[in-house]
Amino acid sequence: VDFVKLAATYSKVNLGQGFPDFPAPDFLQEALKRALSGNHMLHQYTRAFGHPPLVKALAQLFEKLLGQELDPMTNVVVTVGAYQALFCCFQAFVDEGDEVIIIEPFFDCYEPMVKMAGGTPVFVPLRPKAPKDGKLMSSADWQLDPAELASKFSERTKAIVLNSPNNPLGKVFSRGELELIAELCVKHDVLCISDEVYEWLVYDGKENTRIASLPGMWDRTVIIGSAGKTFSATGWKVGWTVGPDRLLQHVRTVHQNSVYHCATVAQEAVAQSFQRELTLYGKPESYFVQLPRTLQQKRDLLIQSLVAVGMKPIIPEGTYFLVADISEFKSDVPEVPNSDEPYDYRFTKWMMKNKGLAAIPLSAFYSEAHKNNYTNFIRFCFAKEEATLKAANDILQKWKKEKTSS
Ligand code: PMP
Repeated sequence: VDFVKLAATYSKVNLGQGFPDFPAPDFLQEALKRALSGNHMLHQYTRAFGHPPLVKALAQLFEKLLGQELDPMTNVVVTVGAYQALFCCFQAFVDEGDEVIIIEPFFDCYEPMVKMAGGTPVFVPLRPKAPKDGKLMSSADWQLDPAELASKFSERTKAIVLNSPNNPLGKVFSRGELELIAELCVKHDVLCISDEVYEWLVYDGKENTRIASLPGMWDRTVIIGSAGKTFSATGWKVGWTVGPDRLLQHVRTVHQNSVYHCATVAQEAVAQSFQRELTLYGKPESYFVQLPRTLQQKRDLLIQSLVAVGMKPIIPEGTYFLVADISEFKSDVPEVPNSDEPYDYRFTKWMMKNKGLAAIPLSAFYSEAHKNNYTNFIRFCFAKEEATLKAANDILQKWKKEKTSS
């Protein structure tokens, strides 16, 4: 919230907040127009647990993705964005005294949501290993230490939150890494809340394995997704959960007794867009194929611009975020007297005020106990129009010239 405010005041180019500044696809906009002016009943309430055409389309898609037969009425629940899906899961599954394992860096709402449900978050960081050959780091170089992860599971562990592809790093967990998590979940009878909102944003042909498809995992996993990320329309706030009825029945209880459902017209338009994608599945015209292709080019452009000024980007395998190492700039950023503000916070504020470029400090994605170990990085969002990325490049090129002349 602080950085959004600062970015609005000082920045000329905002690569901080995580949403696209390019338009949602035409087919989605057209579907909404049709929903608004067609069947007038689409202006009324629909089924609480999900508009029937949408749960049917989602069930059809996830049957394909998981190789698992699904009942649209019991294996899918539509929510107000992935955010509400997360909230429902924590409320449904976590009780006083339960522990929930959260992998760092993590999307910031996991921690307060676990606490609001009465649970205790237990954090385990991804550990970076610098590549030996002087190449740029990849998000794949950030890995869990298997022994450290295993040590976090106990009799009190109720669930683990997995976010792959991961915000903020862009890490796409490999099959081997997911197998390790799955083994521990099965061994300790633990649930997996699998936040897969960036499921279609995977680059360089990397395989995106779904943990629910691994042995013993379907029955203990709730998959969370978002039309906001899938169709570049974050303001629509249409999300979902997919999972076994034995788990989703509790999600439905929380959902029914809190928000009931999200806008019918938005659900209808998302349903039609999924039907389009089902027909085009795997074809070049599919948005699921086109969007990552476009974003990969944007990622590569931003990488070049950041390298030019001396930052060291960590190449993300997925999502529309990129984390960059800013340790080279320590002497440029003035210390603030009597303040224990971490370096990444100071750097980000300095960059916004002096260069007009907004980003988010990485330590914001860590628990209080681990924050201080990760203060040399900031996060950029590259889901931006070409003009926005060009404006960012202009700032970085000017900065580079100033550096070389000083
Ligand atoms: N999970 C992650 C990892 C996210 O990055 C976000 C949005 N930034 C959400 C969930 C929330 O998604 P939605 O906008 O659909 O509520």
